[in-house]
Amino acid sequence: MNILFLGPPGSGKGTQSKMLQDKYGLVHLSTGDMFREAIAKKTEVGMKAKSYMDRGEYVPDAVVIDLIRDRLSGPDCKSGFILDGFPRTEPQAKALDELLKSLHMELGSIFFFDLSKEILVSRLSSRRTCRNCNRVVSVDQLKDLPTSESCAKASGPCDFYQRTDDSAEVVGKRIEVYQNQTAPIIGFYEKTSGFLRVDASSSPDAVFSVLEKALKKA
Ligand code: ADP
Repeated sequence: MNILFLGPPGSGKGTQSKMLQDKYGLVHLSTGDMFREAIAKKTEVGMKAKSYMDRGEYVPDAVVIDLIRDRLSGPDCKSGFILDGFPRTEPQAKALDELLKSLHMELGSIFFFDLSKEILVSRLSSRRTCRNCNRVVSVDQLKDLPTSESCAKASGPCDFYQRTDDSAEVVGKRIEVYQNQTAPIIGFYEKTSGFLRVDASSSPDAVFSVLEKALKKA
């Protein structure tokens, strides 16, 4: 089961990836998470990516494509993966096509997370992310989280913070970059078999059951 998630920032791709990963053991390939990990480890890729990400701009295609090529060729991806956050530009879409062909892989399902700009802005600005396991919650949910809950990746509770690019100043820029550079590639995938437009304004559980139903038919 190889899945591609398309959609604007804040549309719930990361949340659904985690739910599918937990239930079906798929490998979650999030380029954003990979870059944040590289930044935390101060690697060369991380250093290259940081200034672009902080400004809400895209990291240059060559850097992202190299990263995905390395990751997708890994043995763990053979049993199924979810691509989340790649491709985001036309050259990336072309590179993915070639890469999949060379690895003798195919995308079984392509989900487009559709959501209005108003909801995106409010979701992104109130989003908090765990530094260790990348779990995402809203400011409202944060208040109600039981203190006994522990992080999936570290000892003790999750360590939630606001990503620099989720600040009110950067959110508008990210949505603009998405509309200019990523929205145009949706048209290309729309014509592909396995494409489904999903209403991403429903609850995480409701979106998840739409995905599961589609995956069962695929
Ligand atoms: P979101 O989906 O919430 O926008 P991500 O965590 O997927 O956030 O990505 C955060 C940032 O990482 C992007 O704004 C961009 O700077 C960089 N990035 C991630 N994926 C790509 C990509 N495929 N191409 C270029 N930049 C990327």
